[in-house]
Amino acid sequence: MQACVLHAIGDLRVEEVPLPEPAPGEVRVRISACGICGSDIPRVFTKGTYHFPTIPGHEFSGVVDSLGEGVDAEWAHAPVAIFPLLPCFKCEACAQQAYAQCEDYNYLGSRCDGAFAEYVCAPTWNLLRVPHGVSLEEAAMVEPLAVAAHALRRTQPDPGDNILIFGAGPIGLMVAQWAKTWGLGKIMLVDEDVEKLRFAKKLGYKHLLDARESDPVEWARTKTNGGPHIVIEAAGSPIALGQAFQAVRDFGKVVLLGNPAGDMPLSQADYWAVMRKEVTVLGTWNSVYKGYPKNEWQLVLDALAAGTVDVTPLISHRCTLDELMTHMEIMRDRSAFSNKILYVNPNCSPKQD
Ligand SMILES: [Zn+2]
Ligand SMILES: [Zn+2]
Repeated sequence: MQACVLHAIGDLRVEEVPLPEPAPGEVRVRISACGICGSDIPRVFTKGTYHFPTIPGHEFSGVVDSLGEGVDAEWAHAPVAIFPLLPCFKCEACAQQAYAQCEDYNYLGSRCDGAFAEYVCAPTWNLLRVPHGVSLEEAAMVEPLAVAAHALRRTQPDPGDNILIFGAGPIGLMVAQWAKTWGLGKIMLVDEDVEKLRFAKKLGYKHLLDARESDPVEWARTKTNGGPHIVIEAAGSPIALGQAFQAVRDFGKVVLLGNPAGDMPLSQADYWAVMRKEVTVLGTWNSVYKGYPKNEWQLVLDALAAGTVDVTPLISHRCTLDELMTHMEIMRDRSAFSNKILYVNPNCSPKQD
């Protein structure tokens, strides 16, 4: 099969590799679509994967193509979304079904081969059947949608709560989408990229601020009469983090969602703000799959099937395996506007459903 193989940092090549064979309990999936994640950019260009060579790509969907030994025949030809984390099932976290916290996991697309290819193998435990009416392009976005849903669910939001989101990239916009779906109040987005804000405006968001033009703290506090109930830091920037603590209202909640670009130092004033306002600071990591309190992957698929979330407008580019490298460069260099970029396999059209 054809695959996009990372041989060393910055050395991503499209080449012919052996077709993977499913082990007992696994299936082989013919990939339909796979999103480029923000985390793929450092993975490919600066940090590398755990070993080389590796096929990256972890936000994907496809159609079951071949069944390994012992797999129920009902999976044959099923359209599926795939949870990319392979838990050890031995550690304390796994015993609590907190698979995102597993101490010794494997991961399709970073620790082992992923989906920037024509096929990938995965255990049936990791498969979710895609319901009727949900396209395989949408199914490829279940992973980031679950991450965004989990981040917002961490705050246990009430309807009408005002929310401020730093970062209007794909994850920030997916959080905004859930905020809309779940009936939150004012949805405010801050970014430093005017194109990203223009895109958010096209999607219907009204409260948008260019952080280079004005101060997000004053803006958000004025708009909400005392500050938003919830602030999501989805930029991974120490400046945004300080502003999040300054903007949030008394007893409000701040979620740390963006991967930090470096150290995240806090000024004394921002530290005081957390103490005096009794801010609840929440970490968020990955999403809940088949665990407590709710399988957020099923929640996402149900919402897509019901039409209460719509993510197709977030797709800014579709590309082939051969075009993946140039599209990753666009994300790295910000040389052109992008939001969600999907690799689409022309031999397994994601629009067939
Ligand atoms: Zn990701
Ligand atoms: Zn484990």
